Amino acid sequence: MKIKNLNLKNKTMKAAIFYGPRQVRLEEVSVPYIGSDEVLVKVRAALTCGTDRKMYLRGHHLFKPPFVFGHEFAGDIVKVGSKVNNFEPGMRVVAANSAPCNTCYFCKSGNYSLCDNLFIRLSGAFAEYIIIPGAIVSKNLLPIPKSVTYKEAALLEPLACVVHGVEESKINLGDTVVINGAGPIGLMYLQVVKLKGARVIITDKLEERLKLALKLGAYKAINISHIQDPVKEVRKFTEDERGADVAIEAVGLPKVWEQTIAMVRKGGLVNLFGGCDSGTKISIDTKLIHYSQMSIKGVFHHTPRHIKRALSLISYKSIDTNSLITHEFSLSEIFTVIEMMLAHKGIKIAVIP
Ligand SMILES: [Zn+2]
Ligand SMILES: [Zn+2]
Repeated sequence: MKIKNLNLKNKTMKAAIFYGPRQVRLEEVSVPYIGSDEVLVKVRAALTCGTDRKMYLRGHHLFKPPFVFGHEFAGDIVKVGSKVNNFEPGMRVVAANSAPCNTCYFCKSGNYSLCDNLFIRLSGAFAEYIIIPGAIVSKNLLPIPKSVTYKEAALLEPLACVVHGVEESKINLGDTVVINGAGPIGLMYLQVVKLKGARVIITDKLEERLKLALKLGAYKAINISHIQDPVKEVRKFTEDERGADVAIEAVGLPKVWEQTIAMVRKGGLVNLFGGCDSGTKISIDTKLIHYSQMSIKGVFHHTPRHIKRALSLISYKSIDTNSLITHEFSLSEIFTVIEMMLAHKGIKIAVIP
C-alpha cells in the first residue's frame, strides 16, 4: 500500500534558527510547504560539522540569515511534491548538501565538483523537518540501506568529500601518508587512506583526537602542540627521513599548508584539503617545487559518484562511524551542542530532534 503524504498544514516545529554570528535561537516555526519538485523529510539524526562552527562564529558569504542552522542529516520522507517520481513517504533517505547542473563545461567533462552553477545548501538540519530542494531530489537524494542507521547515514556528505580527496591523492599499497589534523575530516581520511593499504602518520594538538586516531589504526599520532618543528618530527617517522609519499592537510590554516608541503618526499603528492580563510596566502620555495618534482593540488567538495561510494563504504561497515560520533543530544539542548563545538569537544555530535 502506498503511504500518503502527511498532512502538516498549520503544524509547527522546533528549529534552531541562525540570525547572525553567535546568534542562534531555538524557535517554534511553521513546518515548511514544499514545491512540486521538492520533498519534506522528518529529520531523525543531524550531525555537527566544522562548517557549522565556522558559520556560527562568522556567518557565511553565500547565505543570508535567518535560516535553520546545521546541514548534515538523515531522516524519513513525510511528503513529496506532485512532480516527484522516485521517492515516496515512508522512505528512509539521506541527501547531499549540493547538486551539480549537469550542463556546464565542467559537468560535461565529468568534473562535477567544479560545476559553474553548483547548487549548494548549508542549512536546515537542526529542525524537526527539512525541505529537500528539487535540484538535490533529482541528483543527490539517496535511500538509506537497511543496515545503516540514521546517524551513520548523516556522515555521508563529509565522507564523500574525503572519498574524493583520497581518490585524488593517488595512494599506493605500502605508502606512508601524513595527515595534518585529526578532526572529523582527518579521522575519516585516516580510515579511507588505510583502506588503500597505506601507513598513516597523523598530527594534531588535541590529545583526545590523537588517542582516537591510534584506536582507528594510525601508525603514529603526533601531538605538535609542544613541538618546535613538526616537519622534522614527521620526517623522522618516514623511511630514511625522506618524507611522506603523500601529505594531506585537513586543518585549513596557511601555516599548516606550508608545513604539509614540506613533509612530502621528492616526487610526492600534496593534497591541500582544508579550506583557509578567504584572502589568505602561502609562500612556497620555488626551488623545492622545481627540483623535487612534487605535485601540489587542491581538492574541493564531492560529486554524485563520490556520494554513492561513500554510502557504500558506510553500508559495508568499512568505516568505523560510531567512534566518530562521540556525543548525542536532543534538539532542545542545541546550546550545549554549540558550546561543545566551540570548545572542540568530541568529534561529531549527533542532534536528535
Ligand atoms: Zn559538513
Ligand atoms: Zn555544472
